[in-house]
Amino acid sequence: MFANLPAAKDDPILSIGMLFNADSREHKIDLGVGVYRNEQGQTPVMQAVTQAQQNLLASQTTQAYIGLAGNAEFNQAMLDLLLSNTAGYSRAIAMQTPGASGALRLLADLIASAKPQAKVWLSTPSYVNHQPIMEAAGLSVDFYPYFNPETKQVDEAAMLEQIAKLGPDDVVLLHGCCHNPTGADISLEAWQQITELALKNGFLPFVDLAYQGFGQGIDEDIAGLRYMADKLPELLLSCSNSKSFGLYRERCGAAIVIGETLKQANNARAKLFELARRSYTMPPNWGAAIVAEVLGNAQLTQLWQDELNQMSQRMRSLRQALVDEFTQQSSSERFNYLVQHQGMFSLTGFSQQQTEQLREQHAIYVVGGGRINIAGMAQQDIPRIVEACLAVGA
Ligand code: PMP
Repeated sequence: MFANLPAAKDDPILSIGMLFNADSREHKIDLGVGVYRNEQGQTPVMQAVTQAQQNLLASQTTQAYIGLAGNAEFNQAMLDLLLSNTAGYSRAIAMQTPGASGALRLLADLIASAKPQAKVWLSTPSYVNHQPIMEAAGLSVDFYPYFNPETKQVDEAAMLEQIAKLGPDDVVLLHGCCHNPTGADISLEAWQQITELALKNGFLPFVDLAYQGFGQGIDEDIAGLRYMADKLPELLLSCSNSKSFGLYRERCGAAIVIGETLKQANNARAKLFELARRSYTMPPNWGAAIVAEVLGNAQLTQLWQDELNQMSQRMRSLRQALVDEFTQQSSSERFNYLVQHQGMFSLTGFSQQQTEQLREQHAIYVVGGGRINIAGMAQQDIPRIVEACLAVGA
């Protein structure tokens, strides 16, 4: 059966993790894998999550199947969190999925069911799984210009020029905030201009929101998304609870569809049910039950917001400290882009040779292509990281 399968290829991010684990140097630093870490290098369980789990265990009455849509309170809580007071709210449905990965795949399958000839447009570059997920659903994929490696910012003019050429057979995938892998986000004006273009030319925006609260704040990070939800007749949204609730391994996320009418959104939901039934059928409940408990309890919601704010504050202060150190050690301001980026990641543009030298000579692990995870460092590591980057010619 399996004799003709090709040999396994290394996963670019997981293989860095394996090399890191095998490295016996005490001072090694992992800036590769995409999880939040605190100053002690741990990916903590949020206190709001711990308290929610205690409440759930104390009140749990059954472990019976939960149904194709997953946890109903979770679905409502996500709609409230993301879309309340937008015009799209009353025409939206949410379905719990196994992570945003599950939502991306289900929504890709939904697009393929509704319009098999649709083409999905991704940013250059985009999250490494976007292209394979879209293609696995049978959709064709193309790329719009996004990151300018010189300025390390989004080339909004080039992006908008390409998006202005798209029409009803096109889907434009946008990162809700804290773009992975670049860290460079579009301005609110660009969200507004893309919205105007979608209204005029009929393409469908699809927002992937994986880092709410990791940038400027829980509300600030979804301003662009909410603008679209207010103005557009249709919108697709995949969202992840992995980062913003620290629930990575619970595999919790949601697929949200805003339809031209609620009836059309409900038809989309019926299709999503069918798509889920023929693959995993039902999502796991525990992560969603935790999120529903946190968002349904004012005291836990406040605690969650405070903890999330502390996490984003840590990342912003690491960014500032990095820039200060680079400026001091290199007498140059060419690293200032690090404070303009949002969230965990920044695309540094380090070459293959530089990333290898960082790993071999300095025990600093960076993903190929030069993506660094800011949350992977402690404040005290910063002088050594900067020294190493400059030593390899960054
Ligand atoms: N979208 C983006 C942009 C991501 O970076 C990730 C991974 N962190 C995902 C989706 C998938 O997240 P999840 O863990 O919820 O499947």
